[in-house]
Amino acid sequence: MYLCLENVKKSFKNKEVVKNLNLEVAKGEFLVLVGPSGCGKTTTLRMIAGLEEVSSGKIYLDGREITDLPPQDRDVAMVFQSYALYPHKNVFENIAFGLRIRKLPEREIRAKVEKTAAMLGLSDLLDRKPRELSGGQRQRVALGRAIVREPKLFLMDEPLSNLDAKLRVQMRAEIKKLQQDLGITVIYVTHDQVEAMTMGDRIAVFYEGELRQVDRSEEIYQKPVDTFVATFIGSPSMNLLPGVWDNERKIFRGEGFEVQLNLNLLSGEYILGIRPNQIKLGPDLPLKAFVAFSEYLGSEHYHHVLLGQQRLTVVTTESGYTGQEIKLAFPEKAVHFFARDTGRRVEVSYG
Ligand code: ADP
Ligand code: MG
Repeated sequence: MYLCLENVKKSFKNKEVVKNLNLEVAKGEFLVLVGPSGCGKTTTLRMIAGLEEVSSGKIYLDGREITDLPPQDRDVAMVFQSYALYPHKNVFENIAFGLRIRKLPEREIRAKVEKTAAMLGLSDLLDRKPRELSGGQRQRVALGRAIVREPKLFLMDEPLSNLDAKLRVQMRAEIKKLQQDLGITVIYVTHDQVEAMTMGDRIAVFYEGELRQVDRSEEIYQKPVDTFVATFIGSPSMNLLPGVWDNERKIFRGEGFEVQLNLNLLSGEYILGIRPNQIKLGPDLPLKAFVAFSEYLGSEHYHHVLLGQQRLTVVTTESGYTGQEIKLAFPEKAVHFFARDTGRRVEVSYG
């Protein structure tokens, strides 16, 4: 493996903020680290960059242990949310900075900076100061400064979170394309699950300092390992319904409702999970529910529904259910089960 974190832990005073992290990243891979604010993403990046010491564990990059190397000897570049550009230097000098420190010949610096600027569409802006640039252009300069150094690894910490929604979508695609064109290895941190899903070759989901699941995005969406991952990935969130499964009668009894499901699972207490867009609606379906209100989002509608005493979100392309009774069904293959006590996924069988 190209990058390897082995039993990496980090504590600040008595608080463990990264718990026994094992993570491998292949060369040329785009790995997204995603999780809510405060779960340890930045701390993890900073340990890889050498800006923060590990409390224990080892880090390897390209066959070499880098755990105790100073940042400048790791050949790792970090791109921050705040861009961290030098306000008094122009775009050229901002991009050139790392090369000047390495004392490269002037001709080589010029060639590298110009090539990088062309790649990022910054060729006409080389004389400008950061304050004369738009947010997106500043972000490109920050990327350029990393790219021009040709590091072994790029670490990006929420690089798009200062941009407006439209520009974020555009830059998301640009960064992904750049990564593919250059074949670079990237660890990209975000708290935005949409960014994670759209950008990552693989996604590592963090929660409270713990790596909960690392997998391809489809795997994470289709087989979340626990209720945290299930509700964090996918929007709107997966519905979670506590109840009891009776395997004799093939019935899941929740709060004021019963669902018949043709599947096999040990009888007991569970949490049933179903995504809002996978619930079926139709006049002849078995579950009677009441729509408290519906929200219009343009291409789809969110319906806030009561099934017995259980609240549910249902997403459809049709509108106008507020105050009405509707009929629902849960397709067996769309239903997830989680253990009631641990929240861990439980596999079921069919037929
Ligand atoms: P994220 O980037 O996922 O939002 P961080 O890695 O920044 O999370 O922080 C993880 C936890 O570690 C938080 O509870 C934060 O308050 C704590 N933390 C981060 N840096 C320090 C520090 N230098 N000293 C003490 N606590 C810290
Ligand atoms: Mg952070």
